[in-house]
Amino acid sequence: HFTDKTRAILDEYERCKGGFQPLPIALTKARNATLWDVEGNRYIDFLSFFAVANMGHAHPKIVEAACTAIRECPMANTAFVNPSYARLASKIKEIFGYDSIVCMCTGADSTDTATKIARKWGYKIKGIPSGKAVVLTASACYHGITISTHSLSSAPEDVFGPYVPGVGPVSPSGVLVEYGDIESLKKALEKDHEIIAAFMVEPIQGSAGIVDPPEGYLKQAYDLCKQYNVLFIADEVQTGLGRTGELLHSWRSGVKPDLVCLGKALAGGVAPLSAVCGNADVMDIIEGGDIGSTMAANPPATAAAVAALEVLVDERIAEQSKEKGKLLRELLKAENLAQVSGFTGAGMLCAAILNPEYVTPRFNGPRLRRLCAKRGLMVNSASGGNRVRICPPPTIEEDLLAEGVKIFAQCVRDLES
Ligand code: PMP
Repeated sequence: HFTDKTRAILDEYERCKGGFQPLPIALTKARNATLWDVEGNRYIDFLSFFAVANMGHAHPKIVEAACTAIRECPMANTAFVNPSYARLASKIKEIFGYDSIVCMCTGADSTDTATKIARKWGYKIKGIPSGKAVVLTASACYHGITISTHSLSSAPEDVFGPYVPGVGPVSPSGVLVEYGDIESLKKALEKDHEIIAAFMVEPIQGSAGIVDPPEGYLKQAYDLCKQYNVLFIADEVQTGLGRTGELLHSWRSGVKPDLVCLGKALAGGVAPLSAVCGNADVMDIIEGGDIGSTMAANPPATAAAVAALEVLVDERIAEQSKEKGKLLRELLKAENLAQVSGFTGAGMLCAAILNPEYVTPRFNGPRLRRLCAKRGLMVNSASGGNRVRICPPPTIEEDLLAEGVKIFAQCVRDLES
């Protein structure tokens, strides 16, 4: 369905580097769970732009809040008090129960900031010698793509090294903390707890392909952290804000993390905004000049976030995610696809595991992604092509959800046959 209109844009796009290997589709419009390209072709969104569109695309209340702020007060916020940042802090207290927040722009900023807070806490409160505080993570995690957050993540590409020391899934005495394996965390903490300030973990691993930890893992990990006076940091950049059927996915395990990282959907998908949330016992060690960024907590982003949090509560986004996540899985299972061996995740954070017996150079995640897009459905490939992310906005209309599942199932059958 492409004409010279798309080709001209793609020619210009040649100069844009990086990103997540986008499909050659020039999108120009998005409403709730429907997308349109420059040609007017329609797509059903089963991707949510990597868990950004939790409140649907272009929610009118969120767009209005952002546009008003852009018209009235579009400056960066660094030197004055921004009233909607103050309002956002109160909303976070009301909804999530945390005393304070510090806002940044990207998810990577928030995990980097949480690392700084934890290290300072380790030095000031726990008494770890200066320059020694470690932030432990888990294998296959993803906390961002900058040098410091690549270092937190488990498999940085050597080409970008050297990496930041004292962060990552290997403890100072060499214990590899495997995601989901409580014994490895126990061993690492037993050996190195004196210089470990924090354990940072994704409640469900998102970028690794939507990987669920075993039942009870998060609570056990939290209890171990408490036993060894180690902060428990939940990276809820992908799992938080209703995506999994909970306001925070940690809550499902009865865990209230010391620090929570939020991003992606925080400003309703209309502006970059991330945050670290925590209570006074930890957050009060932050002093002026410790943390900040010129555009962090700028009025359009914080105004959008206040509106997004209102929508989160008023429109029962977490409940919608739970209910429609259940329906999504029922519809997918009813298709009886032998090529799919199961589904992971929770709520509207879902991945189809491709049956290894069927995965071939012809049948795999990237090819399925392309075929689905051709037929008007946006999904994404994950886990080296062995899984397909199916993550619609929780606000998706039920008939669109059913239509998307039908397209997905037909693409699986056609690609494999
Ligand atoms: N943490 C998690 C759990 C994520 O999934 C991501 C992004 N996929 C990030 C951090 C980084 O967020 P950003 O891309 O906004 O920097």
